[in-house]
Amino acid sequence: MIRQSVRQLARQKSTITRRKIYSPKKEKEIETLKKEEAVRFATLGGLEEVGRNMMFFEYEDEIVVLDAGLQFPEEATPGIDYIIPNVTYLEERKNKVKAIIITHGHYDHIGAIPYIMDKLGNPPLFTAAMTKEIILRRQEDFPKAPKINFEVVKAGDIRQLSKNFKAEFFGVTHNIPDGVGIILETPVGKMVHGGEFKFDYDNEGRPKNLDVWEKIGKQKIHTLLLESTGAEEPGYSISERVVEQEIEKLFKKAGGRIIVGTFASLLDRIAEIIKIAEKMNKKVAISGLSMKTNVQIARNLNFMKVKKDTIIPLEEIHKYRDDKLVILCTGAQGEPNASLMKIVNGEHRNIRIKKGDTVILSSSIVPGNERSVQILKDDFSRQGALVYHYKMIDIHSSGHAPQEELKAVVRMIKPRFVVPIHGYYFMRWRNAQNAQEAIGLKPEETILIDNGQIVLLTKDSAKITSENIPAFYVMVDGLGVGDVGEIVLRDRRVLAQEGMVVVIATLDRRTGQFLKNPDIISRGFIHLRESKDFVEDLRKYIRALVARIPRHQQIDTDYLKSLIRDQIGQFLYNKTKRRPMILPVVIIV
Ligand SMILES: [Zn+2]
Repeated sequence: MIRQSVRQLARQKSTITRRKIYSPKKEKEIETLKKEEAVRFATLGGLEEVGRNMMFFEYEDEIVVLDAGLQFPEEATPGIDYIIPNVTYLEERKNKVKAIIITHGHYDHIGAIPYIMDKLGNPPLFTAAMTKEIILRRQEDFPKAPKINFEVVKAGDIRQLSKNFKAEFFGVTHNIPDGVGIILETPVGKMVHGGEFKFDYDNEGRPKNLDVWEKIGKQKIHTLLLESTGAEEPGYSISERVVEQEIEKLFKKAGGRIIVGTFASLLDRIAEIIKIAEKMNKKVAISGLSMKTNVQIARNLNFMKVKKDTIIPLEEIHKYRDDKLVILCTGAQGEPNASLMKIVNGEHRNIRIKKGDTVILSSSIVPGNERSVQILKDDFSRQGALVYHYKMIDIHSSGHAPQEELKAVVRMIKPRFVVPIHGYYFMRWRNAQNAQEAIGLKPEETILIDNGQIVLLTKDSAKITSENIPAFYVMVDGLGVGDVGEIVLRDRRVLAQEGMVVVIATLDRRTGQFLKNPDIISRGFIHLRESKDFVEDLRKYIRALVARIPRHQQIDTDYLKSLIRDQIGQFLYNKTKRRPMILPVVIIV
């Protein structure tokens, strides 16, 4: 005991002396010295996951943020609507945040905006026209979110974001129009964020618009932030011309109606389908609000050229012959509330499947959705539709550059450092390998970080520091943001996997004995009515448990509850090898 307190005292003393040496003032000086030399970079999401993309650069008292996306829930987060980046670090420095730049209009890049702009001090938001419109539409669902100060930019624009940061925007080909990449000029050099991109090819199969990348390469680029989504895919993208031809072939084969399921955000594909439909003299009806909205935005901004009478209202499809109809739908991933699911379940207001329909699912499967896509395919074919799943072609024309295109970009830009972004560790590791192969970068020049790790960028170096800032999930569930934490999730997982048992014990205040037989309620554990003997054993066990408590003692309900929880837990485990959640309820009368 004595020795311990001496040690404690010594420890206290040493902290006191340490404090004396490092006065707060001096610490501040050292800190500013460090900051003057270096730009800090970190991601708040998008690594170790696909989605939730968000990152920032910081220099002295200025911060520039790139993207603010959401991630869709996974098995480990049951019941969650979606996951957004943790912006605690930025919130604490909101007066430093000078700008936020959004690369393109996909939800994994814009989805968190309504939740975080306030916390960031509502800085000006730089983005292209199409992305602005998509963000605005989404803001309508969040009437309380602050009004966004948009700065609309287009390819070629240069904007001074703050004293120390300047941005030049360049256009990239993705699968949604108006995507941009950024050359960010900082005090230590030029950083490039390539956005999300792939190459597009002309009719002869030659890649188009490579001069954009080549021009960037002449600017002495310090660090390239390079997306890794396609880094595991070998080769080059399939040209959209080829995709068009393939879709056209399928359309020609179809005798009746054609129902195409795809993502509402896959606007380039939607535009292609409408174009082919027009060429074949078919009408197009759109089912799904998000898809309708996106098509409208793209038409307004002239990204999609559609003849006046091509698109018809869904309510009027009966006025046309089956072979004159193409119906575009959301929900190719088997999403429960999307159009395709409603159609296959016979719940859609305007569309029932009939023999002779052709159903084309045009989207690669997002991991985790395999089962629901399988159900879609099964049920459509059961109902007599011809089903085509366009998985392969979409993997190779996905909007994300595969290996050879990634390498080509690294060769054209010739950065000194590459930070692979967007994707799981293995994808980014693969991307780092690509970059090393492309221009002979050393492993330490291709930087693999985790969310929340700070990279210090000086004029001649890029180093991962030991500093970590909060970057763990913030979960959105219903109207709650961030109120579902690890413990709630753990409970949900137990409930989902093992179920729950409620034990209600009603005891006499004077005797401490049961007034009635303990009540047992089970949800998702066992069906009680079919397990009468088991329930009787359980009751007996509980009665014996309570009988062991000495009579003269006053009943301590907390003690009794934890006793029931532990002992019943053990009892159930021994009998069933399951660990349901146990909720003891003790009533003293
Ligand atoms: Zn995207």
